[in-house]
Parts: sequence; C-alpha cells; structure tokens
Amino acid sequence: MNKKLQIIEDHESSVRSYVRSFPAVFTKARGYRIWDEDGNEYIDFFAGAGALNYGHNEPAMKKKLVDYILDDGITHSLDKATDAKVEFIDKFNEVIMKPRNMDYKIMFPGPTGTNTVESALKIARKMTGRTDIVSFTNGFHGMTIGSLAVTGNSMKRKGAGIPLSHTVTMPYDNFVNDEKDTLDYFERFLEDNGSGVAIPAAVIFETVQGEGGINAASIEWMQRLERICREWGIMLIVDDVQAGVGRTGTFFSFEPAGIKPDVVCLSKSIGGYGLPLAITLIKPEFDKWKPGEHNGTFRGNNMAFVTATESLTYWEDPEFEKSVQAKAATVTDFLTNMIEKYPEMQGRLKGRGLMQGIASDVEGFSEKVAEHAFERYMIMETAGGHDEVFKLFPPINIDEEGLQAGLEIIELSIQDALK
Ligand code: PMP
Repeated sequence: MNKKLQIIEDHESSVRSYVRSFPAVFTKARGYRIWDEDGNEYIDFFAGAGALNYGHNEPAMKKKLVDYILDDGITHSLDKATDAKVEFIDKFNEVIMKPRNMDYKIMFPGPTGTNTVESALKIARKMTGRTDIVSFTNGFHGMTIGSLAVTGNSMKRKGAGIPLSHTVTMPYDNFVNDEKDTLDYFERFLEDNGSGVAIPAAVIFETVQGEGGINAASIEWMQRLERICREWGIMLIVDDVQAGVGRTGTFFSFEPAGIKPDVVCLSKSIGGYGLPLAITLIKPEFDKWKPGEHNGTFRGNNMAFVTATESLTYWEDPEFEKSVQAKAATVTDFLTNMIEKYPEMQGRLKGRGLMQGIASDVEGFSEKVAEHAFERYMIMETAGGHDEVFKLFPPINIDEEGLQAGLEIIELSIQDALK
C-alpha cells in the first residue's frame, strides 16, 4: 500500500469511509478538478457532498480570503461583532432574503450542518413546549443524539449505541404507494390525538433527501405538509443543508413550492469555499432564546464569513440561477437517455436540479458505476439505504466543458459496470 495511505490505515479510526471509496492522496484542487500526488487529474462530481457548490478554490473567494489573512483580519471572535460578520449578514439580507420577501433572524448555531439541525430542534421544543419531532424515513439530519434521532437510517442510528427517542418517523413522499399518502396517515394520526398520541413540536424534512437516495418530494406534497403544520400549530423545519444554496436550481430548495418554513437550516455551501459555517434562519416570532442560551466557541468563523459574502455575488446576477437550471436540464436529458439506452441497468431517474442520479434495481450496480468512475478519474458518490443510487453532484458553476467531460465518463462507467 502507498506509504501515506498506510499511515491512515495504521492510525485513523476505523470510522473513516471516503478514504476507502477513493483510495488516493489528494494534493491540489481547482474548480471541478482535483489532483492526486502522482499528478492524476480527477473530475469531481461529488463537490464535498454539497459543501463545494462553487467548486474548489473559487478564484474571487480565494483572493478575498488571502487578502483578509494578509491584512491580519480577525479569525476568531466568538459571536462578537466583526466587519466580516456584519458584511455577511448585510449581504445575505440584501441579496438573498429581501428579493424573496423573506423575514428571518439569522442565528449562528455552530460550524456544521448537525449544529444547525440541533438548534432547530431545540427552538421547536422550546417554542411549543412539546417533545416529539416528526421526520421521514431515509432523511439525514446529522450525527449528534438529537439530529440522529430524526435521521431515518438504521446503520447511522446504531452508531449511537442507545435507543433514540422522541421521534416519529414516517415514510417520505412516494414511499407508500400512489393511492396512500404519508400525509393522509399524518392527518389521521393528529386527529387521533384523543387516544393519547402526542402532537409533535415540529416536522423536519429535506425537499430532496441527499443521503437517503436523492428522493425529491413533490411540490404538492410540500404544500400540503405546510398546510397541515399550520392547521395544527406544528413548526415546519426545512433542512436545506444539502439541497440548499443553489443545488436544486434556486437558492433555497423550497422556493418552487412557495412554502414558508418556520426554521431553515443551512450549512455546507453557505460558507462558499468549503470552510465550516452554518446558519439557522428563524421566523422573528420564534427568536426567543435569551442571550447565551445556545452558545458555542466556533459560531461564525470569520474566514468563512469572508468567502460566504463573496459567494453571494453569484446570486446578484439573475442569470446565474438560470444557468444552474439549464445545466440541470442537460443532466436530466443525459440521465433519461442513459436509462433508455441501457435498459439492463433497470434505472430510475432521481432528484432535482444539479442533485440528480440514477437508482438501479440491479443489486450492487450503482456502486460498480462509482468504482469504475474512480478508475476513470472521476469522483462520484452513491446514496440511498442500499447505495442503490449513483449521484451526480457537480459544482453548480461548472462550465459546459467540465459538465460534458463528466457525463462522458459516467456513460463509460455504466458500460464498464454492465460488462
Ligand atoms: N442535514 C443534511 C441534509 C445533510 O446532508 C447533512 C450532511 N450530509 C447534515 C444535515 C449534517 O451536516 P454536517 O455533516 O455538516 O454536520
């Protein structure tokens, strides 16, 4: 084995996983490309599982960051006011919230996606005085005890070592059948309250389940879910950690449904440059924590504020959103063609925007496609309860040449997997 990988093999905890799927030592990256120590160039259709929507080392963000550091900009400040923080809040408000008529307080819960989810669950419980949270099978929300309790993946849940409580997990949209909808069941469950079933504090969901198999909820399902929550005074939390920040073709993934969640969780690409940053957007009426009631040392990394502010420049130009949607349409056409051209893979189209893939009913097929893609110098992930989906996650600012180069490798990898 390569000496560097041997160091990892000898000393890193056995929980490591991506180093096993992609056994190379990476040294450099730019845009959609990443190089290993032998100079091999890979196409990155993984994009840090959604943390690198603008690609690696995006030049404008890099310049801002380097200038900031050279100028002795503040790196750590707890939640004190810094220029970097003020500029981020101001630009987020002007460029993202105002044009969308959104009115939310911005909270910094800690550096990761798990932190924003955990804060959302706490707010919902504190605001309603209720305990239970409704979540969905195949949902993924994080690894701390609270966020794991709403994560619908038995392998991950077993990692806790104890039973996880205070969650009601229901099948996601389209997971029952065409005649029966989860939301019929949900309404029935609420109406049966007289039988002692507790009304939940909140519902948490992803509009497209990133880890759980890029399952996309329909617009109507999301709207009905919102209506039920309003009717019963249940808080609606959208976990946009993976599907947000442009991944599905609009800044917030729930925009096409026109819903107004009470709490929105963002992380991954909100920092812009792959630096850790998370924000929780809270409707003003639920912004009731006392100062210090939820704190943490790394809430709002100033370097991430600098790159996050710069990343919002993309969203000042309405053409950007359209360009993401056009690329998404190219991917849909490509995948639809693949499914028709290679019926042996028994493929189904999954996802929305630049968060699409193919679920194969042939056991182990999607994993094989990802493995062959790696042999062909492309990084691509699988998703779903049985890794039945191969998942295309290019940076959303990828150019046509990069997109086409990636799609070509995917077709070749499908052919390899069928051999
Ligand atoms: N929510 C969703 C939808 C996610 O995809 C993830 C990460 N895959 C998380 C929460 C947790 O984020 P983090 O890994 O940054 O804690």
